Amino acid sequence: MKIDILTLFPEMFEPLKSSILGRALEKNLFELNLIDIREFSLDKHKKVDDYIFGGGDGMLMTPQPLYDAIMSVKTDDSHVIYMSPKGNVLTQSRVKNISDQYNHLIIVCGHYEGIDQRIIDLCVDEEISIGDYVLTGGELPAMVLVDSVLRYVPQVLGSETSMVDESFSDGMLEYPQYTRPRVFMGMEVPEVLISGNHAEIAKWKEKQKLSETQKHRPDLIKK
Ligand code: SAM
Repeated sequence: MKIDILTLFPEMFEPLKSSILGRALEKNLFELNLIDIREFSLDKHKKVDDYIFGGGDGMLMTPQPLYDAIMSVKTDDSHVIYMSPKGNVLTQSRVKNISDQYNHLIIVCGHYEGIDQRIIDLCVDEEISIGDYVLTGGELPAMVLVDSVLRYVPQVLGSETSMVDESFSDGMLEYPQYTRPRVFMGMEVPEVLISGNHAEIAKWKEKQKLSETQKHRPDLIKK
């Protein structure tokens, strides 16, 4: 998977270079390019924003640097995503579809009041939101998208984490999990988990998944 991220703040993406994704990057399991939109500005002061037609507070990212930045990486196989609070809210099933369907993602991060609508109309295939709230920029949303999609890239997840039985994998939340010690602050690990009885453990997990989902996200059960 190749991912090009278009941003005014490439330095914000350091977190993607640590931990599990950092190791995957070192092993070339995916390619990540951070593209500084400002470098494409034809303005002599490298300006990338301007006042908004029709009035209103704040500034908008101008179309020229964005258009040229997108065109510098776009091919027939690219899928261009604009991170936007107006987009469809990201779900696990959309994450999986994206990782199954596309080999090349171009992710556009807005800033200020966002980007000129003509860029969305001309170049964007999909707008994605990470939730019904507004952030200062698309960089954190882009990192959320990239992290969630890369978990489906073969070998990215090492042995320390697995997608089996995870929350949302079958539409339900995960069962409670425990590690050593068996007793902590007087609280014991459920007996069944140390019984060695795999059938009983599987039954317990199924029951717990249902009760966790009922408790935290009853809307998922209705779905
Ligand atoms: N004026 C825009 C609106 O009301 O819809 C909000 C712009 S926001 C301050 C600046 C940038 O942050 C957006 O262009 C987008 O890239 C990003 N952003 C903010 N909230 C987001 C969210 N919930 N999901 C995805 N991107 C978001």
